[in-house]
Amino acid sequence: MKIIADTHAHTVVSGHAYSTIREMAKYGAENGIEYLALTEHGPEMRGSCKDIYFMNYKVIPREMYGIKLLMGVELNILNAEGDVDLQPELIKAMDITVASIHIPCFSDEFTMGNVTNAYIKAMHNPYINIIGHPDDGRMPIDYEALVTTAKETKTLLEVNNSSLHPQSFRPNAKENYKIMLDLCKQYEVPITTGTDSHMDVDAGRFEFTQELLKECDFPEELVVSTDFEKLRPYLNLSK
Ligand SMILES: [Zn+2]
Ligand SMILES: [Zn+2]
Repeated sequence: MKIIADTHAHTVVSGHAYSTIREMAKYGAENGIEYLALTEHGPEMRGSCKDIYFMNYKVIPREMYGIKLLMGVELNILNAEGDVDLQPELIKAMDITVASIHIPCFSDEFTMGNVTNAYIKAMHNPYINIIGHPDDGRMPIDYEALVTTAKETKTLLEVNNSSLHPQSFRPNAKENYKIMLDLCKQYEVPITTGTDSHMDVDAGRFEFTQELLKECDFPEELVVSTDFEKLRPYLNLSK
C-alpha cells in the first residue's frame, strides 16, 4: 500500500516542534509523499501560535519541493460538549482540520461518556475533517459509537504514526487501533494517516502505520490517504 498523503504534522510555531514549513516540505518530498498537511496546534495548547497565525495562510504557496501543502490546524477539543479553540469562520477557511483531545486542554473528567461525547459532538461540526489520535489508553472511548458517528458525519478517523512509535506516550494505542480498525472494516468507514511529526525527518514516514494496517489486513480502499481523489471530498478545501 502506498500512502501519498500525511494529513497531520507540525512546524516550529506549534511550540514543541522544531522544523520550518520548507524543511517539512523538503523531507516530506524525500520521504515519498505527494501531499503534506501542516496542522499546527490550536491556541489552547501551551506555546502554540495564536489565531492570527491561521488568518494569513493565503501568503503560503501550496506547492514546494514538488509536493502539495495543505495548511490547517489541529484543534483542541476542550470539553465533553465538543467545543474547540478557534472561531468558526477561521476553521472554515482552513484547507484541512484535525480535532484532537489533549490531556492538558480538556476541562472534563476522562470518563468514557465524556470522551465519546466530546468526539461525537466535534464530528457533527461539518468543518472538522479528521479526528486525531483516537487511540490514547488514558481516555476510554466507545469505539462502536466513534466509528458509526464517523460514518454518519463523514468525518475521517486518523491512524497516528507517532502514537504507534515504541517511545509513544499514548498507552495501548496499538491495541485500541486494532479495535477501531476492525469496526472500520465492519462498517466500511474510511481512515486517514497522519505522522503527527514534530520534526522534519519524520514528515511522511509511516512505518508503524504500514505495519499495523498490514497486520489488520486493512483494505486499501478504506485508506483515503492512498489517493488524493479519495481524500479531497472530506477536506474543507472542497466545502
Ligand atoms: Zn504536538
Ligand atoms: Zn495531537
